[in-house]
Amino acid sequence: MVLSHLRTRLFHSLVLSLKNIRGSSAPRVMRMALLLLITAASLATGGCAASSTTRIIEATAYCNCSKCCEWERGNATYLKLDFWNKYQSSGPDKGRPYSGLTANGSVPREPEEGFFSVDSIRRPWMIPFRLLLFPWYFLPHDGTLAADTSYYPFGTRIHVPGYGWGVVQDRGGAIKGPDRLDLYFHSHHAALEWGRKKVRVTIVFP
Ligand SMILES: [Zn+2]
Repeated sequence: MVLSHLRTRLFHSLVLSLKNIRGSSAPRVMRMALLLLITAASLATGGCAASSTTRIIEATAYCNCSKCCEWERGNATYLKLDFWNKYQSSGPDKGRPYSGLTANGSVPREPEEGFFSVDSIRRPWMIPFRLLLFPWYFLPHDGTLAADTSYYPFGTRIHVPGYGWGVVQDRGGAIKGPDRLDLYFHSHHAALEWGRKKVRVTIVFP
């Protein structure tokens, strides 16, 4: 609130100084330099400041199974080969191949805390095994979230208590409005376990 108030005040003072420059009799070069400076300042304050806000939203969960993502296998008439392919079973792209990627074309994943995770503290004897078998688990990354991109554009980072940091990469038919969020899980079991929760999330716009 304070930040946006300051920004509007700064903007008004910039507009006022712009009007003054036009009316003044200072040399042309000086006026141009001042104009450039003001443009740069307004771009810096308006474009680069990341704003974060909190909001109580309803979070549901999904995985990439046929139920959650609405796909079905091809029919098994010709040598049962088409059985391996997946097709979308509803929506505007019904019948088109199902890629398993999110709406912005990325591979969906669960958030990973990396080396300093709860798992490392709870089961420290597993660290060597994880390091040997799944070394990429030690690289922290955000989870995949589905949201209404007219409110939360792709790239919006949201912290969901009990889930971790996620980034908006997907959309969903039932995920409409600013108060809905869908969290990606690796398994349908984990998604069912999350169910439907009202949580206070922290939103960081890109
Ligand atoms: Zn599922």
